[in-house]
Amino acid sequence: MAETIFDKIINREIPAEIIFEDDQVLAFKDINPQAPTHFLVIPKKQIATINDIEPEDAALIGQLYLAAASIAKQLGVAESGYRTVMNCNPDGGQTVYHIHLHVLAGKPMGWPPYQNTMKQQLP
Ligand code: AMP
Repeated sequence: MAETIFDKIINREIPAEIIFEDDQVLAFKDINPQAPTHFLVIPKKQIATINDIEPEDAALIGQLYLAAASIAKQLGVAESGYRTVMNCNPDGGQTVYHIHLHVLAGKPMGWPPYQNTMKQQLP
C-alpha cells in the first residue's frame, strides 16, 4: 500500500501536534482546522478507506472512538459536544488515503451538513 502523509507522521518523519498515542492509535491536531478544536484520530495500521476495513479491524475501529472520547474529555469539549466524521473516497471528501476520524468541537454544528446542495437535488 502506498505510504501517505499520515504514515510519515506516525514514523516522525514530518512534524505534527500529537495529542495522544498508544500502540495502535495516534491523534494529532488537524493542520487546517475547521472548528476551534479539530483533531484527527488514526490507526497506526495502514487502512486506506472505510471500504478496506476488515472484520479483524473491528476492535481497532472501536479504539479510534474510545480515543476520540477520551481526548474530547481532556480538552474539555466532551460535555458541550463534538462531531466525528470519517470521509470515504472522492464523493465523501477523502483526501488522505489512511482512514482518520475527524473530531470537531468548540462551536455548534449545523445539521444536515449540505442542506442547500441536497435541496437543489430534490425534484
Ligand atoms: P480528509 O479530507 O477527510 O481526507 O481529511 C484529511 C485531513 O488531513 C484534512 O482535514 C487536512 O487538513 C489534514 N491534514 C493533511 N495533512 C496534514 C498534516 N501534515 N498534519 C495534520 N493534518 C493534516
